[in-house]
Amino acid sequence: MVEIDPWGVEDIEDYTRLFEEFGISPFKELLSRIEKPHPYMRRGIIVGHRGYEEVLRAMRERSKFAVMSGFMPSGRIHLGGKMVMDEIIWHQRMGGDAFACIADMESHSVRGVSWKECREIGLNDYIVSLVALGFDPEKGHIYFQSENKKLQDLAFELGTEANFSEISAIYGFSGDVSISHMTSVLVQNADILQPQLLEYGGPKPVVIPVGVDQDPHIRLTRDIASRMRMWEVEKDRNKNQNLSIRISLKEGRDRGLNTTPGAAVQEMLKRMKEKGYQDIREYDMHLNVYYTPSSLTESYIQGVEEIVKEFEMEHGGYGFVLPAATYHRFMQGLTGGKMSSSIPESYIALTEPPEEAARKVKLAKTGGRVTVEEQKRLGGLPGECTVYELMMSHLIEEDDHVKEIFEECKSGKRICKSCKSEAAELMFSFIKRHQEERERAKEVLKKHELYKQWFR
Ligand code: SF4
Repeated sequence: MVEIDPWGVEDIEDYTRLFEEFGISPFKELLSRIEKPHPYMRRGIIVGHRGYEEVLRAMRERSKFAVMSGFMPSGRIHLGGKMVMDEIIWHQRMGGDAFACIADMESHSVRGVSWKECREIGLNDYIVSLVALGFDPEKGHIYFQSENKKLQDLAFELGTEANFSEISAIYGFSGDVSISHMTSVLVQNADILQPQLLEYGGPKPVVIPVGVDQDPHIRLTRDIASRMRMWEVEKDRNKNQNLSIRISLKEGRDRGLNTTPGAAVQEMLKRMKEKGYQDIREYDMHLNVYYTPSSLTESYIQGVEEIVKEFEMEHGGYGFVLPAATYHRFMQGLTGGKMSSSIPESYIALTEPPEEAARKVKLAKTGGRVTVEEQKRLGGLPGECTVYELMMSHLIEEDDHVKEIFEECKSGKRICKSCKSEAAELMFSFIKRHQEERERAKEVLKKHELYKQWFR
């Protein structure tokens, strides 16, 4: 039996299975290492991660890191999209270089949305709300895929390391999928890796906040990023239990080299020695060093990786660090089941009239019992209640207040009618305030050197 707490979910077992199957790590294990975690982190809304330790380390050491995520402009911006925006903004405030992509190439090729509509929805719904929620456009980067030539070039280059069968197997593509649709997958891989290009400061940890359904994109991008590397740094343990690091030039990825592979290995060896790594030796076209388990430290390995990356970039490589991801839970649709853009009652758009948003809350599916008497006796089921989810995810800042609602609901002290009225009022105020912020955001964007062209 899975314990349900104020931040718990009824479908936690599904997520646990997902983690075991795909190797996603539970996020809560990292929580104590984060100075001021976002409420989504504290409340278990972000359930998992892949490789987020590197991002945390960069945050702690005040070194470079980035955050990026994308929005497909095919429907109105709703509370599900807001979750991704909140996560980008939090990482930007924590010092990350922030990237927000309007995935218009994906929307056009996959959903058939016209370029004109992509532009209008992307700009008026997504970008304006992003800035209204707190994204700093001065420090961050907002772009449309279709306008970004560097991104498209990178996608083309990444395509040299991905093939038709692999992409088809991951996404379930059959022979009738258009080439543009397939290409849009590579453009998304490029979106994820773009923050590591030289013009954005080169290789660094990058986190991609996404819903758990987006994990195939993350895994594919990590695979491609690794294949794009010129050098491989492998850690191994031999039969005497000694650890070794093996640094080798990857076959087929030495095409940018302006020297022969043999000379490259020699040059790498020289650099390692110059930087103090005296014990590294050359063995048959690769470099190697053996250590006892206690003497090989993380900082030693990081130092080696830094030298390798530096060399790689001087020779036309990318030196990509594997991108990290955080995974948040899906929000339930207000009518029960999934949130769907084809069912307006199932979601709340950030641009809809506040009265309408409040009305939807009052009609939303709850975890209440059939009668008031039964609810007082048995208590409600907040883990199954979309109104509770709205309050926990978007409407209430103080943890104690959310806990109180949870306890009152479970004990039968709280009744759905008044609870929904409270949530509807909070939603009304939130949407109204957000729309006022949107007006201010429009003015900021219209005056901004980089973004004002979109408003002509
Ligand atoms: S009392 Fe509130 S939290 Fe509990 S089930 Fe009803 S609406 Fe949901």
